[in-house]
Amino acid sequence: MIFYKTADEIEQIRESCLIVCKALAHVASRIRPGMTGEQIDREAEALIRDHGADPGFKGYRGFPATLCISVNEGVVHGIPSKTEFRDGDVVSVDCGSFKNGFYGDSAFTFALGEVSDEVMQLLRVTNTALYKGIANAIVGKRLGDIGFAVQEYCERQHKYGVVRELVGHGIGRNLHEAPEVPNYGKRGRGPMLKEGLVIAIEPMINLGRKEVRQASDGWTIITKDKQPSAHFEHSVAVKKGNADILSNHEPIEAALQSNPEVHEVGVIATESLEI
Ligand code: MG
Ligand code: MG
Repeated sequence: MIFYKTADEIEQIRESCLIVCKALAHVASRIRPGMTGEQIDREAEALIRDHGADPGFKGYRGFPATLCISVNEGVVHGIPSKTEFRDGDVVSVDCGSFKNGFYGDSAFTFALGEVSDEVMQLLRVTNTALYKGIANAIVGKRLGDIGFAVQEYCERQHKYGVVRELVGHGIGRNLHEAPEVPNYGKRGRGPMLKEGLVIAIEPMINLGRKEVRQASDGWTIITKDKQPSAHFEHSVAVKKGNADILSNHEPIEAALQSNPEVHEVGVIATESLEI
């Protein structure tokens, strides 16, 4: 069952999302080779609690941390570890928070130090795909239009692997609500998008093949071919004309400008968001 949100509820979700993005901006300012996922995770948790929120993921189905940190072939759901980040790592960081009864959810992928042009292109395309999905999160479109836009751009135009097993989701009083929001789909298919629908759109895109498996830690999803993967996520409210993006990556992008050890990502500005 889909829970449509009132304007007040959407503002509560926005507040949680903006706290998440402050935590991710802190990650953007701090992450570098030599630091560990555990360190970053502790700092993110403190920041979230300082804002009167709880980490959204910690304890969720037994997940032990505030951040999901998925390195290189890690797609999502990685557990922050004591392993130091290395030059050349591609680090996806996913974060949730919970405040006033509502969740926020957002993710960003960071490229540390010397990273190939091929990998930077994967990050830019995945981030651009997120906005192509969001451009379809408007009244009058259907759920399949979102997945179609992401899949068409990443798979057909760029020949990347679009992960099938993991999907975006509704968000609100629960971290994961109906409907599922796949990163693949058919144009014009699926439920109509209506005002009040709040969804997390989160392309998970692999440089190589689309197949993934679970790592031996029981949590991390990794690519079967061990090639890198990228993940960008916004929580958005469906509106007429333009989706309302409740999370905000601008503070993350600003923080990256002053961290010389992490690359800026950006979107591919020459491309239209229309698909
Ligand atoms: Mg997330
Ligand atoms: Mg999510």
